[in-house]
Amino acid sequence: MKPYPIHRVSIVIPVYNEEASLPELLRRTTAACEQLGRDYEIVLIDDGSRDSSAELLLEAAAAPGSHVVAVILNRNYGQHAAIMAGFEQCQGDLVITLDADLQNPPEEIPRLVDEAAKGYDVVGSVRQQRQDSALRRWPSKLINLAVQRSTGVAMNDYGCMLRAYRASIVKAMLACRERSTFIPILANSFARHTSEILVAHAEREHGESKYDFLRLINLMFDLVTCMTTSPLRLLSFVGGGMAVAGFAFALLLVVLRLLFGAAWAGHGVFVLFAVLFMFTGVQLVGMGLLGEYLGRMYNDVRARPRFFIERIVRADAAPAQLPYSSSASSLESIQP
Ligand code: UDP
Ligand code: MG
Repeated sequence: MKPYPIHRVSIVIPVYNEEASLPELLRRTTAACEQLGRDYEIVLIDDGSRDSSAELLLEAAAAPGSHVVAVILNRNYGQHAAIMAGFEQCQGDLVITLDADLQNPPEEIPRLVDEAAKGYDVVGSVRQQRQDSALRRWPSKLINLAVQRSTGVAMNDYGCMLRAYRASIVKAMLACRERSTFIPILANSFARHTSEILVAHAEREHGESKYDFLRLINLMFDLVTCMTTSPLRLLSFVGGGMAVAGFAFALLLVVLRLLFGAAWAGHGVFVLFAVLFMFTGVQLVGMGLLGEYLGRMYNDVRARPRFFIERIVRADAAPAQLPYSSSASSLESIQP
């Protein structure tokens, strides 16, 4: 792993009705960024807030010498869509996301930058003593485990948005055209080296969580569908298995009916069952087939880049520009 030169850091923060947290957020984030000894920008995205968040952001961005970039969306699109909107405006070599509610302490930013500078594509964070209700913590643990199993990327806390991404990973994510997405997982699909650091977690001080039960369920589906289409494929496996079992059972009923006579078979009731099993089996196979088509269509419709080139090494001296890389510095030229 090669150290990664970071000249400019972009902080991306989605904001939805957070007017009470904003002054402290801006103050603490700026203070943390000043410690970096690097150029920085703080991109705040107003996700259709109904309070005065947007005005506060515009004011902060308009101040002379301000490092704040205010991005105002016309309506509420959701946290991950808002972050994507922020990504589009980033100019840094390293992009750090965090929440506006100060549950992720901005003071951890320098540690994330140091870790990323070692050469990691993505640096995640694990919340120590997470300050959320058990109702939020346990499902989250289960999901993290499932994600680890199916992506093979061992990260422990996908829910924590305090994360750092290299510019090339952000460009790759922006090239994904899907509408609903879960950024930490999408990022990992383009990363080679990932790391995690332990961070503090605070209780929400102002306002309340923007995720009610329904939105949490929705977020969970975003997470699962962003990662894999295997739930759809599950249909064909389960369907196929049930169909085979149904056919076998139907056959058994018919054979037993022939052996033991009509009285054993409830005067035709069992044969009816046999017919039912067969039809259900055919239906399930059909549904599985639909699932297979749907899964492939879903993959095509969201039109993710088919591959992600990390770097190109050429023998000739003229360096080619990487498709998604903002800097040519990651290119290596080998003289023949
Ligand atoms: N957020 C957003 N749009 C939304 C919901 C949330 O931009 O539709 C922002 C919110 O302002 C905060 C972050 O996403 O900065 C995380 O939201 P929240 O703290 O409510 O989530 P929780 O910590 O409860 O998971
Ligand atoms: Mg929060």
